[in-house]
Amino acid sequence: MSSDYLATFSNMARIAKQHLVRMLRIAMSCLLVSACSGLTIKTDNSESFPWSKMRLPTNVVPNHYDLSIHPNLTTMNFTGTVKISVDVKQDISYIVLHSKGLEITMAKILADGMEQDMTVLEHHPHEQIALLPPHQLQGQRKYQLYIEFQADLADGFDGFYKSTYRTQNGYKRVLAATDFEPTAARMAFPCFDEPLFKSTFSIKIRRERRHIALSNMPKMQTVEHEDGLVEDTFDKSVKMSTYLVAYVIGDFRSISATTSTGVKISVYAVPEKWSQTHYALEVAVKLLEFFEAYFNISYPLPKQDLIAIPDFQGGAMENWGLITYRETALLYDPQMSSATDKLWITKVIGHELAHQQWFGNLVTMEWWNDIWLNEGFARYMERLSVNSTYPELQVDDYFSNVCFGAMAKDCLNSSRPISNPAETPVQIMEMFDTVSYTQGACVLNMLRDFLSEEVFQSGIIRYLEKYSYSNARSADLWNTIANASSEREFSTGGFCYTSSQAEKRAHQYTCDSLDLREMMDTWTQQMGIPLITVNRTGHNIHIQQERFLKGVLDDDADYATLQSGYQWHIPLTYYTSSSRHVHRHLLKSKTDTIQLEGDVSWIKFNVDMNGYYIVHYGEEGWEALTQLLDQDHTAISSKDRTNLIHNALQLVSTGKLSLDRALNLTHYLKKETDNIPLLQGISYLNVVYRLMERKNNTDTAENLKKYILWYFKDVIDKQTWSDTGSVSERRLRSELLELACDLGYTPCVSRASQIFNEWVASNGTRSLPTDILRPVFLTGAQDEENWNYLLEAYKNSLYSSYKSKILYALTNCKDAERLAKLIDLGMEGEVIRTQDLPSLIVTISRNPAGQALAWNFVRQNWQKLLERFHVGSSSFRGILKGTTGHFSTKSELEEVKTFFDSLKSQGLQLKVTELVLEMIQKNIRWLERNLHVLNKWLSENIPLAPAVFL
Ligand SMILES: [Zn+2]
Repeated sequence: MSSDYLATFSNMARIAKQHLVRMLRIAMSCLLVSACSGLTIKTDNSESFPWSKMRLPTNVVPNHYDLSIHPNLTTMNFTGTVKISVDVKQDISYIVLHSKGLEITMAKILADGMEQDMTVLEHHPHEQIALLPPHQLQGQRKYQLYIEFQADLADGFDGFYKSTYRTQNGYKRVLAATDFEPTAARMAFPCFDEPLFKSTFSIKIRRERRHIALSNMPKMQTVEHEDGLVEDTFDKSVKMSTYLVAYVIGDFRSISATTSTGVKISVYAVPEKWSQTHYALEVAVKLLEFFEAYFNISYPLPKQDLIAIPDFQGGAMENWGLITYRETALLYDPQMSSATDKLWITKVIGHELAHQQWFGNLVTMEWWNDIWLNEGFARYMERLSVNSTYPELQVDDYFSNVCFGAMAKDCLNSSRPISNPAETPVQIMEMFDTVSYTQGACVLNMLRDFLSEEVFQSGIIRYLEKYSYSNARSADLWNTIANASSEREFSTGGFCYTSSQAEKRAHQYTCDSLDLREMMDTWTQQMGIPLITVNRTGHNIHIQQERFLKGVLDDDADYATLQSGYQWHIPLTYYTSSSRHVHRHLLKSKTDTIQLEGDVSWIKFNVDMNGYYIVHYGEEGWEALTQLLDQDHTAISSKDRTNLIHNALQLVSTGKLSLDRALNLTHYLKKETDNIPLLQGISYLNVVYRLMERKNNTDTAENLKKYILWYFKDVIDKQTWSDTGSVSERRLRSELLELACDLGYTPCVSRASQIFNEWVASNGTRSLPTDILRPVFLTGAQDEENWNYLLEAYKNSLYSSYKSKILYALTNCKDAERLAKLIDLGMEGEVIRTQDLPSLIVTISRNPAGQALAWNFVRQNWQKLLERFHVGSSSFRGILKGTTGHFSTKSELEEVKTFFDSLKSQGLQLKVTELVLEMIQKNIRWLERNLHVLNKWLSENIPLAPAVFL
């Protein structure tokens, strides 16, 4: 017997005594309020609440919910009843489940044909209630909990919330919708609101005749009631987590089609936008068929609804059988939506359908720490599914950008591992970030490249089959893929191919043995991104790995501490000047050496950027690659060229590569014809330009502007003002013309003004090419009269993607008063909907004329923003990051610190604040180290009279 046991024993005795005291207190309070029958005793006093943990006890497991909901869209509240069938695992005297903001009006327990009242305790900090039956419940028995409840329909976008909109004729329409992920089902009905507690659901919705009601499952019957209302009964659901339950009540119109496997797909929108649903229907049918074939697992529900909700905080939510979308993410009109809009809608539909049956809904992460298993996979499958079904959208071109986005966060010390502890609702909300989504997707892409598509696919199919209607952790995924891999001719005890098999496979790594879980843990359990430094001596390539940290230099005092303990198992790929054959090497140690077979003039690592790491080639290596790009850039793929530009410019922040050398690498872009590296290079220069512009560093900003317009003049002048060409060509046109007009390039501004004026002269009836809408509106919005005209057009348009382009233009005017008017409209929520307020604030803060306005607004209206958006939500984090992350002076840093300290004193601990402070410090440091280099480089690279081009 150890002392630990004694401690545990005495602790148990103490808890039992405390519980007895609590029960006596409750009994006393019941005596004071008559017989206590059906009464709710509310308390925030954790002393009297029988459960102290944030996570629910596992001694009661729900099996089925019978849920009846009656929303009143006139009084804006709802009543409901829920009967939950539960298995009680051991003798207990209380049941703990979730409830937030609900008034419980009755709670009973049903067993053996008897029903008895229960006392209800509420513990607000943990969003839990405890149900106390009159007698102890017996273990290994089934019971039914019956609860009646009511609440107001929520403001904001979580739980069961209300939404209103006006028709073209000015009539107000009301609807109610749910959005539960991650922890808001408890706002709509009492439930065991954790992903592990999967149950079936039978749902009934009472409604007015003029509305329709939708839920996860098809409607089975509608019954008329004496009060003139009707009640829809929906079929029993499959087993699922509470965050996937959904219902929507309102005025919607739909179109439908059936897949080749018999699933009825319907797309819903408010009646006036019904004509914009056709593209989504076509995509949803095609993609659902694709996923069924790819995973060889049928979609289990008879129907799949996709519905555009006028008020929606995120992009979309994968409620099983009833996916809810923001209007811009679902509605498409060929005359009004651009190529980028089309790609975005297709990707979002792919993402949600990937969740639907497969990642998330069928197999769910055990807890929110592994939310990347849902989101990383769904992001990865967007690309795979759209690439297969809509190759013309060239979705693959954008994947590098997805990974660059992940790296931008992962290169900071305030990042986090993909799999990360999260307990409170705010911490759980914060898990829905770039790391879970994009870093997860990029790491999966690397794994697929490492294992081969065939092995990867069979591994994930096995994983989905094994954990269907159940939950999994990251380790389960790796173990399942590993087993699937070994069955597919891997050598036993490891994952290296045997020599005979190696010849059959394209994917070889020089390793003796491989533990897949150990390898993948280095990518999911530790944060950061590796930097590979390559040095060549003769035929030997010396490689070394370390953690890539932006803004940290080798001679910084904390460098060693920040590096300590970081090591990855990195599946390296490379090719050389002597052959395009892709070589593979698994780097598990800090350093290693690779032998080259012959003489080479250059080496390119991270082939097609399938790996999640950054490469430093050393002075000579970069020189050789710069020469290669100058002389024959097509010797390497466009993805590799993009990757080199990215890596070189990232290394500047670590002091490992000087800015002028990195910029020299981009010199070849004059000859670049592929859109992806071209846009990568230009967008980097534009980012630096914006930094100078915001900082009022006028001379440098002017010179950089001149350089961009002079150097890329040919490709800008080549753009047509139409919608022709491939998606990549259209995206390039859209971005280049917007940049050129924004930088004041005279030919661009003249043409855009002319088109704008013609459009106004036609009273907005002239149809404009969608890809040039942003540059045209942006140019027009600089004039006050035109700005007002655009605002009117915004108010009257039925097309969300069109409206978003107008709004973007409106936020880019140089008049602070008009920008303030936009923020007022966003706060009112009528003309500019509240859902668009976060992006409105962020775009205004990017405008030098609006940055102070936006920042002051956020500080002064903090509480009001908190009332509208959940504190951990991506909207809220976006506002914080968007209004401050671009700051680059010490005084701004101090201002932000002071503000964040005031939040802390209010009890708000947000991870994003660490990220923002680090971003600002990084900007300050970058400028201190690079401004003079940039000025010198510009003076050497701009011809004497470039102004003639402007
Ligand atoms: Zn998702």
